[in-house]
Order: sequence, then C-alpha cells, then structure tokens
Amino acid sequence: MPAARVKHVLRKSMMAAARAASWFAGERRGARIVTYHSVGHRKHEMNVHPDRFREQIEWLSEHAEVVSLERAIHTGIGTAITFDDGYLDNLTNAAPLLKPTGFPATVFVVAGRAGSTLTHDCGDPGASLMSFSEMIELSDCGFEIGSHTLTHPHLTDLPPQRQEEEIRGSKRLIEDRLQRPVTSFAYPYGSVLDYSSETRALVIAAGYSLAVSNRFGPHAPGSDMFAVQRICIHANDSIETFADKMSGRLDALSFFETRAMTHIKKSANRVLGV
Ligand SMILES: [Zn+2]
Repeated sequence: MPAARVKHVLRKSMMAAARAASWFAGERRGARIVTYHSVGHRKHEMNVHPDRFREQIEWLSEHAEVVSLERAIHTGIGTAITFDDGYLDNLTNAAPLLKPTGFPATVFVVAGRAGSTLTHDCGDPGASLMSFSEMIELSDCGFEIGSHTLTHPHLTDLPPQRQEEEIRGSKRLIEDRLQRPVTSFAYPYGSVLDYSSETRALVIAAGYSLAVSNRFGPHAPGSDMFAVQRICIHANDSIETFADKMSGRLDALSFFETRAMTHIKKSANRVLGV
C-alpha cells in the first residue's frame, strides 16, 4: 500500500476513535479557527480543491458566525479563517470565493520566500507563493497579513538568535514592504514540538499580539493567546467531516496533540517517508 494511502487510513482511524471519544466527552467550548493552506488543484494532503472550499464556506455562511482572528482569540467565541504559507492561489482562488460573504481572513506568509516557493514545495508548479505586491492586493480585499517566519524552519531546531531573526525579521520585512502593521504570528509546522517557551517569549518580545499553532482544537476563552489551537482542514475532508470538525464532534482529536503522541506521529511519517 502506498505511504500516502497508509497515512490516510491512519488518519481515518484516528478520526473514528476521536468521534467516539468526543461523543462521550462532549464538545469543548471556544472559538474555532480554521487552517487552510493552498486552495487549488495540487495533489497534496494540505491542498483543498476550490469546489470543496466553496462548499465549506457555504457551510460556514449557514452555520457559523465568522469573525476576525483577533476577535475570535480575544473573546473565545465565533469562527475565524486562516491560511498558512501565503500561496498565490489564496489570492486567485480563495479570495474571490470569500469576497461575496464579507468574511474576514488572515494569511500567514513566509516573508523570505515571497514570489518564490517553499523549499519543500520545489518543483510543484501549483505551489507559487504571493509576491509582496500580491499581498498588498489581498490586503486591499480585507485580508490581514500575518507572519509565518522568513524561511519556514522548525524553530526549535534553531539557536535563540536565529529564531529571533526569523520571528522579528519577518515582521520587519512585511511591515516595510506592505507599509501595514503585522500583529499575528503562526509557528511553522505548529505542533507542540515546533515551538518552546523560549520561542513564545521571542514572539512576544518582537511585538506580536497573538500566535497560532497547528495543535487541533478550539481556542477556549482566556487560554494562551501565544499558543492558540486551530482546526486544520485536509484535502480529503468531506463536508460531513468538515461539519464534524467545526461542530466539536471531533474535538477528541486534541488528545493526539500531546508531546508523546506527536513524537509517535512524526516517527510514523519518517518511516512512511511522507
Ligand atoms: Zn506553514
């Protein structure tokens, strides 16, 4: 069985277990902050097809109160939409679908790769990242631009000085090129192993007002604004799975976000080569 298929089956099993556990434990309170990556036609587990994206936005229009990221995090209520990495298709595919709804959204860009591609996307023609002028265009459509570092490293692998360059340097670069303040930060990869208390302190010292992770779950009122949990959407998520994620019926997936479980997941990915 191909590695990607094995990973898909494992994820389905985790979701089945989480669905059962959530039924017993009940849904958790808090704002639900959705994470997207590219919205296009790439064959990648993090790419959402534009037709699926449209369907999910229609679901949100009917069932959710979509607010800005800042408001969702400060109040712990509502739903916010975010995109990681700054793919060009966020401007060309996602923004036109969001525009009629008036929903706010935040895009976390990898500032040092603007107009290029991420190292791990090299050779993928659909994986272009926005240039600074395209970010200005998106910002003019009402999107907030946040930082996702300069080069998308595993921050905890770097010494403090290099982490600071990535965190502070990206904020400075985006603010310089866009002439707009940057107040939100997203940790690359975003698991519990991908940022530390030191990383968090550097984010605060750089002047950001909030930081998001990719640990699955809602953001409860009053919880840490510099380690905000989000709800990541995958390529294969059906509208039923999307609805379950947004309604709390998969909240027990957060049980898989401990350090021990994250080590196991990363080791499995290494073995599978994905
Ligand atoms: Zn990323």
